[in-house]
Amino acid sequence: MSLIVQKYGGSSLATTKNIEYVARKVVGCKRKGNKLVVVVSAMGKTTDNLIEMARKVHNCPPEKEMDILLSTGEMVSVAMLCMAIENMGEEAEGFPGHFAGIKTDNFHTKARIQTIEPSRILSELKKESIIVIAGFQGISPESAITTLGRGGSDLTAIAIAAAIKADMCEIYTDVDGIYTADPHLLPNARLIQRLSYEELLEMASAGAKVMFSRAVEFAKKYNVPFVVKSTFSEKGEGTMVKEILLKEGADVSAAALDEKQAKLTIFKVPDKPGISSRIFNAVGKANINVDIIVQNVSKEKYADISFTVNMSDADKAHKIIQEVAKDIKAEKVLCDTDIAKLTIIGIGMMNHAGVAGRMFHALEKADVNIEMISTSETKISCVIKKSDGKKGLQAVHKEFIEK
Ligand code: ADP
Ligand code: ASP
Ligand code: MG
Repeated sequence: MSLIVQKYGGSSLATTKNIEYVARKVVGCKRKGNKLVVVVSAMGKTTDNLIEMARKVHNCPPEKEMDILLSTGEMVSVAMLCMAIENMGEEAEGFPGHFAGIKTDNFHTKARIQTIEPSRILSELKKESIIVIAGFQGISPESAITTLGRGGSDLTAIAIAAAIKADMCEIYTDVDGIYTADPHLLPNARLIQRLSYEELLEMASAGAKVMFSRAVEFAKKYNVPFVVKSTFSEKGEGTMVKEILLKEGADVSAAALDEKQAKLTIFKVPDKPGISSRIFNAVGKANINVDIIVQNVSKEKYADISFTVNMSDADKAHKIIQEVAKDIKAEKVLCDTDIAKLTIIGIGMMNHAGVAGRMFHALEKADVNIEMISTSETKISCVIKKSDGKKGLQAVHKEFIEK
């Protein structure tokens, strides 16, 4: 008997037929003698539709109410899956995130898990029921419902697997596992059989939405190995993600394209100490993550500063920066959403001279202009025009992975 946590994403639960399929799979696993905790996402595009609905009544929906609204999506899946399981003759017990003991901070829409108290899950597990938990949600210190950020059900699954010391954590999705690039964008992408937490973390942070980056971070921190595999295909082992001893070398293991980025530029910023700190502290206070930052060479004591944020934070960041720009007497602020971030990932590759040059040359050959560059030990990212995204991805994948 094993204690297994399984997570089913929104695409795996999009229709009632899909829900029955998942219920059969879950019941089959239980009948093999396993104990099961199942984490579910909202059905299909439910979360997107709820966000769109909120925007119809408020142009910048308040985040606390947004969390109440968004958390309902996962609750529908819990109820539906429990009913389908019970219809197959097994007991099911459905929990919202807070019954599962997931306590978060109070950063609504992007809350971070503070603690998990799994006592209720553990006592229910002693009975025969299959436990179904709503992903993506928790409860704040003020007892308000919070959500963990888009894609957050992955984090619920990993965190629960860690808290109850599960023998295995399985993330079921609509692709066969983790590929060298998004297989929906690049048919030549290859399935990766084994991947280290570090590599997947870089991929997820670079926009490969197959796993929520904070879920990978959590898995790495608490050493929770997990497998990513297809809900609908019975064959295939998927991708095993765990601690892997990394070898020295310059292998590029994957490429990712993030089309959900925005670039903010503040023009004619006075070039003196303290200005960058004012700008980025204001953005940081609003819990907005800044990714690539570029400041151009100062001319007559003025410089332009550009930085990228997630598209979902663009409006909020734009408003904040407009206020700061007034204070620091900068000329103007522009927000460009017509961009994409293209990243190649490979542990240790920056120790190998020439990787960056090869990437830029591949983009040059594909006639893709680079607007911003950022490098680290494990990745190189370029900001390019959104319309060049797929072409750029194909070019770097061909250069480093299809060779
Ligand atoms: P779920 O609904 O199961 O959470 P998501 O839509 O969040 O699924 O994530 C799965 C999607 O991630 C795939 O359909 C695929 O288009 C995308 N994806 C992006 N990069 C990758 C990659 N490197 N490997 C696999 N899938 C990827
Ligand atoms: N339903 C949420 C979303 O669409 C959480 C998830 O699917 O993981 O982002
Ligand atoms: Mg997802």
